[in-house]
Amino acid sequence: QPIISFQQYEFKYKNQSEPTLKDITLDIYPGEKIWIAGPSGSGKSTLAHCMNGLIPFTYGGEATGSLRIGGQNPAERSIFELSRVVGTILQDQDAQFVGLNVAEDVAFVLENKAMDRPQMKQEVETALNLVGMLDYIEHSPHELSGGQKQHVSLAGVLSTDAEVLLFDEPLANLDPASGRKAMQLIDDIHRKSGKTVIMIEHRAEDVLQQAVDRIVLMNEGRIVSVGTPDEILSSG
Ligand code: ADP
Ligand code: ADP
Repeated sequence: QPIISFQQYEFKYKNQSEPTLKDITLDIYPGEKIWIAGPSGSGKSTLAHCMNGLIPFTYGGEATGSLRIGGQNPAERSIFELSRVVGTILQDQDAQFVGLNVAEDVAFVLENKAMDRPQMKQEVETALNLVGMLDYIEHSPHELSGGQKQHVSLAGVLSTDAEVLLFDEPLANLDPASGRKAMQLIDDIHRKSGKTVIMIEHRAEDVLQQAVDRIVLMNEGRIVSVGTPDEILSSG
């Protein structure tokens, strides 16, 4: 049973004359680690926004074909319910920080889960420990490096128990060394948690050093190939 399933899916933004996504058929299974690759403008972010509910809730338009997230039609769920299935780690980390310190920011994500303070403290600490950021629990998120902000954002998503971790351009704002660390952490979390990991990324060099199960290659709004790294790379 796929956790995310696109069947002959098309999506057109309301202010565009042509569909941005065309003939998308893709099943993603629980526990897979998937890299969505392709040049700028090929539709990677749009595909990601279909998976996390920004489409249709924030960006309107017309969709045809079918999309199932956790077995359900996303248009019939709230964006909040969808975030419990697919948690997004954004590239623009600053926008999502609202608390005075790292602990508050991770706790904020948990706010809608019914739990008492000691339990919340425990969950925040567990999540920060998983991403190696427990030492920074009292720091302001704004004084962290880009890589550390991303780790905190990941801790927040991990604390929600979302089954799918969706990374939107995790390397975009990172220097090569921080990028390698981020890839390492994502790999580590994937192996330890068994969660589904989806990475949207156009920077190939850094991703390819990590194991992924499948690469989905996009171009001009279509999936042009899907396969293991060996399959994709040998076909050029
Ligand atoms: P990528 O992530 O691969 O760079 P995008 O999904 O961001 O690709 O963009 C694919 C196409 O969709 C582009 O032509 C872009 O202009 C268009 N697009 C992206 N977001 C929107 C939006 N919110 N409204 C209208 N068009 C959009
Ligand atoms: P990315 O592809 O990394 O998301 P973009 O620069 O393509 O970055 O998009 C940045 C933001 O602008 C996104 O939220 C996207 O949806 C929106 N956007 C992109 N292209 C368009 C467009 N043609 N019309 C309206 N909004 C757009």
